Amino acid sequence: MVDSLRVSSGTASVLGLKDTEMMEEPTTAYTMIPGDSCRGGCTFCPQAMGDSKWLSRVSWPEFELDDIIGSLHSTELKRVCLQSPDISDYERKIVGVVRELERTGMSISLSTPPLTYETLEELQSSVDRVGVGIDAVTDQKRSEIKPNYDPKVFWDYLGRAIDVLGQEKVTAHIMAGVEDNLLQLAYAVNRANYVGAEVSLFSYRTKEKETDLDYYRRAQVVTHLVEKGKEPEEAVWITDQEPSLLDDIIKEGDIFQTQGCPGCNRPYYTTRPGKEHRNYPRELTVEELESIKEELDVI
Ligand code: SF4
Repeated sequence: MVDSLRVSSGTASVLGLKDTEMMEEPTTAYTMIPGDSCRGGCTFCPQAMGDSKWLSRVSWPEFELDDIIGSLHSTELKRVCLQSPDISDYERKIVGVVRELERTGMSISLSTPPLTYETLEELQSSVDRVGVGIDAVTDQKRSEIKPNYDPKVFWDYLGRAIDVLGQEKVTAHIMAGVEDNLLQLAYAVNRANYVGAEVSLFSYRTKEKETDLDYYRRAQVVTHLVEKGKEPEEAVWITDQEPSLLDDIIKEGDIFQTQGCPGCNRPYYTTRPGKEHRNYPRELTVEELESIKEELDVI
């Protein structure tokens, strides 16, 4: 039985559980089942280093589940995302917490280690969407950064989630910058789209290094072009060779915003406050769009 949850510090502030100064507010409540040592061993994740207070580059204070649910009732937020480390009995714990979160009437997203068909079917009518951590775009790099898993289990899980929840209900979380190239990234996006998943792109970062901003911007454009139906090779060719064709795409700006479940903006997951956002948690300003055009050599 889980009777407390961690929430991202931004979520804690929106819920009135903690006073934190924020530059950008989350538009989804991000919650996480507490657990001391995640078995995943992912090289980019503080959870694997036994630091359960951190996920990505965001701190996660812990509160009573009843207090969180009471606070969720009084916010304007429409979605709650439940995450879980790979801890013992995580599937039963997730089912138990989802049953509690249902009381809020909010849409529920899950971003957890792989779930079985049985668990997915048990949760089918309660959960709106599922996020799957494909992370690295190639099996080889996925083996390196997620060393405790067979690299294929995440694609298998993506397929199971689509089988049970249906197309457009599953988001593939894909990272750019794990020593990949744009074509490998484009193939992974194409593969996710082909089986019916949407893609939410992340910028890979560890304590020591982060993905080049220039590469990440190109990765966002390639992802968008593939999702709009371009073949991977063509998407990469346009991005590298014909930046003038990107003007209209960039003007819309939304491809540089956080993608994923409706209403998910994940501020500061992979960007420090004060630095240029990798994924903007809101609409971009004219100045921000101009600066991206420069980054992509469009002007
Ligand atoms: S896209 Fe956002 S809300 Fe959806 S599963 Fe991923 S982190 Fe959660």
